[in-house]
Amino acid sequence: MRLPIIAGNWKMHMTKEVSLDYIKELRQNIEGTDVEVVICPPATLLGVLKEATRNSNIKIGAQNMHWEEQGAFTGEISPLMLKDLDIDYCIIGHSERRQYFGETNETVNKKIIAAIKHDIKPIVCVGESLEERNAGKTESLLKEQVTEALKGLKPEDVKNIVIAYEPIWAIGTGETATPEIANSTIEYIRVIIKELFGDIISEEIRIQYGGSVKPNNIEELMKQSDIDGALVGGASLKAESFSKIVNF
Ligand code: PEP
Repeated sequence: MRLPIIAGNWKMHMTKEVSLDYIKELRQNIEGTDVEVVICPPATLLGVLKEATRNSNIKIGAQNMHWEEQGAFTGEISPLMLKDLDIDYCIIGHSERRQYFGETNETVNKKIIAAIKHDIKPIVCVGESLEERNAGKTESLLKEQVTEALKGLKPEDVKNIVIAYEPIWAIGTGETATPEIANSTIEYIRVIIKELFGDIISEEIRIQYGGSVKPNNIEELMKQSDIDGALVGGASLKAESFSKIVNF
């Protein structure tokens, strides 16, 4: 049995006071949940929220990190710095990072290796654009993204990774992949993992769906055999809607 994991990606939103009120409300709303819950705030709030969520069932994740431990990389945050704050997860290779900040499968791979070395669990984002889907390239694109992202990793490392399948055409657009499309694509990702790392890891690895997940579509998505949770953007910005998603 794979433990469902629902993560909120706040992107470049939220300030201190508002986020502390949010966490207070979320803690009350999701007490006793069986789902693993992760909040990924902007870097400025990582330390504050890590403290505010101590002794709770909420984990904290970063939205990005560099692969080096330190150095002349102005504006970047290292895995050592995240570990210093006791951060649990890090989103790696989000499509917005690939699109606007030049991330490639190669940098994604370096970041995953660095995260694992520092005991930070990566949430690795993969997914196709609308043009790629319409051109019938979804499977080959995913195969390339997953294979390159996980290059050089050992099976025991891969089982601690979470993959987020996020079709770019469904992110922030209000257009959700149907539960069937999301599930069959995630099944295909599991086949890739099986080819690369074997049966057991492909059954153990958790794969989320992301793309316009809302309180009114989470239940159908979570009924699918291969969807182990969600990476939620817009609907994670209010504690009320994110709690409803967690409590699907
Ligand atoms: C995301 O940014 O990872 C995401 C899925 O966003 P949204 O839920 O807003 O589509």
